[in-house]
Amino acid sequence: MKVSTLIFLIGILFCNVGFAQITYMHCGGLIDGVSDDVKQEMTVIIENKIIKSVQSGYITPRDANAVIIDLKDEVVMPGLMDMHVHIEHESSPKRYEEGFRLNKADVALKATSYCRKTLMAGFTTVRDLGGTGVNVSLQKAIALGYVVGPRIYTAEKSIATTGGHADPSNGLRSDLMGDPGPKEGVINSPEDAKKAVRQRYKNGADCIKITATGGVLSVAKDGQGPQFQMDELEAIISTAKDYGMTTAAHAHGAEGMKRAVMAGISSIEHGTFMTPEIMELMKEKGTYLVPTIAAGKFVAEKATVKDFYPEVVVPKALAVGPQIQSTFAAAYKAGVKIAFGTDSGVSIHGENAKEFIYMTEAGMPAMEAIQSATMAAATLLNIDDELGSIEAGKKADIVAVKEDPTKNIETMLDVIFVMKDGTVFKQ
Ligand SMILES: [Zn+2]
Repeated sequence: MKVSTLIFLIGILFCNVGFAQITYMHCGGLIDGVSDDVKQEMTVIIENKIIKSVQSGYITPRDANAVIIDLKDEVVMPGLMDMHVHIEHESSPKRYEEGFRLNKADVALKATSYCRKTLMAGFTTVRDLGGTGVNVSLQKAIALGYVVGPRIYTAEKSIATTGGHADPSNGLRSDLMGDPGPKEGVINSPEDAKKAVRQRYKNGADCIKITATGGVLSVAKDGQGPQFQMDELEAIISTAKDYGMTTAAHAHGAEGMKRAVMAGISSIEHGTFMTPEIMELMKEKGTYLVPTIAAGKFVAEKATVKDFYPEVVVPKALAVGPQIQSTFAAAYKAGVKIAFGTDSGVSIHGENAKEFIYMTEAGMPAMEAIQSATMAAATLLNIDDELGSIEAGKKADIVAVKEDPTKNIETMLDVIFVMKDGTVFKQ
């Protein structure tokens, strides 16, 4: 969008404070997030920030002040939701060294560009699964309108065990290593677990992320083994529930994944070496899989680029990366609930929609893939009463693409219209 258009739109916004701004959106095609059909020639009426009604045909407003948005040649759908991003960072060969050079303000300013790219790609809501606390500041700055970006639900800092994936001191020189404790999200007992969750709550987290198994990008040998014991997992999940927070577990290996599901985790992230037994357990417990195929593809590709990752990371990336898409295919076929997620930050911000292509390649119909990024995601976040579909009473988060994605999924890569909370950010 041109700067002049943006200023014009902000102008409209401020001029109408105190008035009920009514918008009539004429939609050539409409995917509402609930129905399996692409409805034709529809009108969505928006008053202030809320969807008032959805009607058949192109309705002409009676009110002369009403704004008409013409998307008669486009296909309109709910704002997309990515359940796994790291909004503070993005992979690069400099990523490890930057941990020593960048102040939090540098991280924050850099991340504003990731926030913008994400929103412009049509993702109006994201769940941020771990950073340094800058993510909480970004969430507030976006909500207050200082920064352009998606609505953020954040885990603040991931909870890990000593030496586990997301222990921030992994791989450091021993005199720099220190001994981070529950305050910094590193736990070694159920008591530590409770403190770590409560500290995240105090720091402004909306949800809790744990690293149930080893991970690819940490400077540690093990990428798959379990890293928490049952009593620690149970303490984390029950404490999170006390604060109304859902929980997400990074998991590659089967044992750590199974323990997290048994303890009642809300979602499994990646799910790389998921067994049929775990799939059944997840169906029984209602646990979501957030696949992150995009990240698997990205790390497997970059592992072959010399010096992109530290040496200890390369074999893990080569073992885990290529597996994720086929596991997703099996889990989908088995009937496990799926919520869309990319791990952008590991992969590139703003390319989130590539995941739709990978999901459909693996056998999920396009409409279901879109629903996984709208209604299913909203349900996982417990905000399905206000977001996730284009229905009366919901917040006006609406995006549009040029073609019918059920006929050409690649169109999702080119979102041409973005409205968040009733404000147009891209047109
Ligand atoms: Zn992640």
